[in-house]
Amino acid sequence: MTQFTLNDDQIAIRDMARDFAARELAPHAVRWDEEKHFPVDVIREAGGLGMGGIYVREDVGGSGMTRLDAALIFEALATGCPSVAAYISIHNMATWMIDRFGDDEQRRRFIPKLAAMEHLASYCLTEPGAGSDAAALKTRAVRDGDHYVIDGVKQFISGAGTSDIYVVMVRTGEAGPGGISTFVVEKDTPGLSFGANEKKMGWNAQPTRQVILENCRVPAANRLGDEGIGFKIAMAGLDGGRLNIGACSLGGAEAALDKSLAYMRERKAFGRSLSDFQALQFTLADMATELEAARTFLWRAAAALDARDPEATRLCAMAKRIATDRGFDIANQALQLHGGYGYLADYGIEKIVRDLRVHQILEGTNEIMRLIVARSLVGRGSGN
Ligand SMILES: Cc1cc2nc3c(=O)[nH]c(=O)nc-3n(C[C@H](O)[C@H](O)[C@H](O)COP(=O)(O)OP(=O)(O)OC[C@H]3O[C@@H](n4cnc5c(N)ncnc54)[C@H](O)[C@@H]3O)c2cc1C
Repeated sequence: MTQFTLNDDQIAIRDMARDFAARELAPHAVRWDEEKHFPVDVIREAGGLGMGGIYVREDVGGSGMTRLDAALIFEALATGCPSVAAYISIHNMATWMIDRFGDDEQRRRFIPKLAAMEHLASYCLTEPGAGSDAAALKTRAVRDGDHYVIDGVKQFISGAGTSDIYVVMVRTGEAGPGGISTFVVEKDTPGLSFGANEKKMGWNAQPTRQVILENCRVPAANRLGDEGIGFKIAMAGLDGGRLNIGACSLGGAEAALDKSLAYMRERKAFGRSLSDFQALQFTLADMATELEAARTFLWRAAAALDARDPEATRLCAMAKRIATDRGFDIANQALQLHGGYGYLADYGIEKIVRDLRVHQILEGTNEIMRLIVARSLVGRGSGN
């Protein structure tokens, strides 16, 4: 692409994901939210269309596409259901980490099934006592011959209990980021168990549970890269993860804007359609403008990550904050434009608002995004 236009392949990729979202996600999204149903069968279909390893290399079954392609796909999927789109984005992040940092044997062992979404993956960094300060994590792995014995608890893990593969960051060495390593833990490993499905404000179409590791013996052959580089692996995954989650916010906002346009043409007040009131037209204009600005910036950050630009981490943090803040504001504004009906579940707007709210919190809160940007501006020594 040039900076401002998509090529024919990208348009085809986006349209394919949009069709899938309109056909397989949107008609069921409100019910899945209500019933807290994780639609694994539909997610596997997305895998069949190449959406399980979007930016994973093709020799192990990945789709070999770019981060920008991924952003197009996640925005399109989220127009149907932000919660399902976001789970697929986390699966892609974890799968890419194995592709990028795993050796050949690990790539061949784990990725073909992940890329096809026959197997699903979870990303396990957060702990009860270590969220934003992830480098303070305490889950420990101790070497025992050809294995490591892992003990600890991971908190808020998306897909946990259903996923087959857990990419887990644990401490193998000293305190701080340099003592962390990354392991692939398979679902049936003895000593691995899961907490209850958390009751949440949104993201109800995917489970969130604790991942509990008790005397959990994991083969040393499942360690990704050397001991001590686990924090680097976790952060590298998050650069792309932040773009993906930002793209999910754009898709949710776009769906909310489209619903508002349709609703306002139909709904009458004071003898006119809502869409005839200039004050409301200005609201729509601002929503569309903010959405376009956030999208344009997110594409810029995705292009930077594709180009391995040294500024990419900072740009991804900026893009995540802008896309998730603007996305939430637009969805919330759409709810307001629907009046009381926006507050009712059947209209599908309040679900989008609830789903998009968590994007401002996870994959690094938006305060942490500011921290990353601020550090790049004024250096590490200044505050926090
Ligand atoms: C539904 C859901 C799904 C999730 N899925 C996953 C997952 O799959 N895998 C995973 O590893 N994690 C996951 N998370 C965890 C998520 O990434 C964390 O919740 C997030 O990183 C924040 O950590 P915390 O909740 O411990 O908040 P805290 O770190 O305790 O932060 C509390 C508040 O303080 C602010 N704050 C903290 N430190 C600073 C600072 N230095 N400067 C300014 N403000 C600061 C934060 O921004 C926040 O507003 C998920 C969370 C949720 C809610």
